[in-house]
Amino acid sequence: MNKLNFVLLIIISAVLFGFKSDDDRKNNMTSKREENFKYQTEQFADLGILRYQIPGFNDLTLKQKTLVYYLYEAALSGRDIFYDQNYKHNLLIRKTLEAVVISYKGDKKSDDFNKFMVYTKRFWFSNGIHHHYSASKILPEFTQKYFAELLNNSDEKLLPLKKGESVGQLISYLTPLIFDPAIDGKKTNLNSNEDLIKTSAGNFYEGVSQKEVEDYHKSIMDKDDPTPISYGLNSKLIKENGKIIEKKWKVGGMYTAAIEKIVFWLDKAATVAENAHQKKIIQTLAKYYRTGNLKDFDEYNILWVKDTTSVVDAVNGFIEVYSDPIGHKGAYESIVSFKDMEASKRIDAISSQAQWFEDNSPIMPEHKKKHVVGISAKVITVVVESGESSPSTPIGINLPNANWIRKEYGSKSVNLGNIVYAYNQASAESQLKEFCYSQEEIDIAKKYGPLANDLHTDMHEVIGHGSGQINEGVGAPKQSLKNYASTIEEARADLVALYYLPDQKLVEIGVIPNNEAFKAEYDKYIRNGLILQLQRIKPGENIEESHMRNRQLISLWAYERGKKENVIEKKVRDGKTYFVINDYMKLRIIFGELLRKIQKITSEGDFNSAKEIVEQYGVKVDPVLHKEVIARFEKLNIAPYKGFINPVLTPVKKNGKITDIKVEYPEDFATQMLYYSKKYSYLPIDN
Ligand code: ZN
Repeated sequence: MNKLNFVLLIIISAVLFGFKSDDDRKNNMTSKREENFKYQTEQFADLGILRYQIPGFNDLTLKQKTLVYYLYEAALSGRDIFYDQNYKHNLLIRKTLEAVVISYKGDKKSDDFNKFMVYTKRFWFSNGIHHHYSASKILPEFTQKYFAELLNNSDEKLLPLKKGESVGQLISYLTPLIFDPAIDGKKTNLNSNEDLIKTSAGNFYEGVSQKEVEDYHKSIMDKDDPTPISYGLNSKLIKENGKIIEKKWKVGGMYTAAIEKIVFWLDKAATVAENAHQKKIIQTLAKYYRTGNLKDFDEYNILWVKDTTSVVDAVNGFIEVYSDPIGHKGAYESIVSFKDMEASKRIDAISSQAQWFEDNSPIMPEHKKKHVVGISAKVITVVVESGESSPSTPIGINLPNANWIRKEYGSKSVNLGNIVYAYNQASAESQLKEFCYSQEEIDIAKKYGPLANDLHTDMHEVIGHGSGQINEGVGAPKQSLKNYASTIEEARADLVALYYLPDQKLVEIGVIPNNEAFKAEYDKYIRNGLILQLQRIKPGENIEESHMRNRQLISLWAYERGKKENVIEKKVRDGKTYFVINDYMKLRIIFGELLRKIQKITSEGDFNSAKEIVEQYGVKVDPVLHKEVIARFEKLNIAPYKGFINPVLTPVKKNGKITDIKVEYPEDFATQMLYYSKKYSYLPIDN
């Protein structure tokens, strides 16, 4: 809810709008960066595969490097969990696909085999059979007959056959799961007219209806508890003998084989912590994995949010709830990182002014926080990502998610510096040329785009999510605004950023050079919200994903609100549509107006207004413009989604003792996926 979701946001800003890095950024980072590093390694279907470097790793002490390494192993140990959470047959399918990749005896150069590899790589990229972004089943471009021939000509010993099962039986079992769009076609269904639980294929619930789940949650929740646990976050809900029970994800529970490994590495990490507080954090996380007690998770989060001094850091757990249509179950993810000292200065400058931003916000006085607590933020250098944050990744994180912890203890906002850098390096200038209306727009995008975009991300995380107050008696947005909560929350955070970007305050605190740079981000935001992001929607479909809904909501609302005064003008030239901002300051006022409205919806928990504004502005796609945008992108041949190959860390040992940690940057995506599956396949296929 409060994180720029991996899957999601990341892509947004960086992917769609690649710019060359500006000089400031380079100065911060190149000292340890390999020149001529290959950022993009391949492209297939709608996906681009990138790599990132870990500048500064060698400046860490041996103890810090060792800590990073143990956390890295912990991160990857949970990889299988996310596959299984996405769909209960994913591990079975993965094992099958990988057996073919490794051992198929037929022609591996044929067109059909190439199509099989594309499917398999898409499967890996999405951690399962459903598209990582649209949540719809990915359909293979090879035939069922060819699928059978692949399995029949692969090593039987590598296929995941049950006792006594023949290859033919496995083929019959898997074929509809892979090929039939009507069977488990949607991982996460957000269409509120349907039973969201029964129509979603994700593996968080089994044999229960949405009503049963909601009743169950009502029955276990203590509404008067001011410090509620995140009910249902770490379990699968099933009906057994007519009774609803939670299968907890913990040592001794569901996923125990992977979780035991995570705990093993966390225990080791605790022995090389940088300080006593960090040691306690890691130990508490391990304790939570052992007990499955969500009170332990809260305790861990409170400790974690208070730690602002350690250099090495990790997110590890069942964190974001986007994959659950009703927003309770946490998807496994881990991100291991260390602090980028230089770049963090910018973000510190913003967070130190948090109260000023709150006081001067256009939201209604009664919705403002009197005391904005503990917003801390930093830029991190990522070392490895796993689970929901890999291969597709967030560019920003704001955690923890529990509202009462955020209110009482604050939250940590993080910008994934080296990931953003890699995006910017990899993306093409041709896109600017195609979608900007004038040379002036291109110039300003090149000059200020990267900085303005970083600032937007920082403001969104540091000021945006942390701002505003919910009225007394109104529950968390997740409860009150239900399936519209994520869209409204992201819109709120974006609007805070957009409203303040042109503010003289940012020039005063030295994070933006002048009163012009913000225009690059305004141009980009409108360009993306009304045009570019349409590339990711299939013909005939509407917008489902929350961040995308939010972006169109803001852009379209602003466009229509300013129509009379021509604030944003729709222009068509040579059959190509552009949206051009004529009056930046008026647009700022419009953003402020919308922020006030969105904050009011949040503060009051006004479900009907949330539904109305999201459905009216955030969901529907103009089919004519949509078609045009897809055609323009096809000519450019740029993948709309990107994901990353992780670096590989290996301990160097002498007499059994670690003397250094070696970092390598592999180049082949399929090789890394096979390597992970071989090394970190801890879960049995039938969970
Ligand atoms: Zn956000």
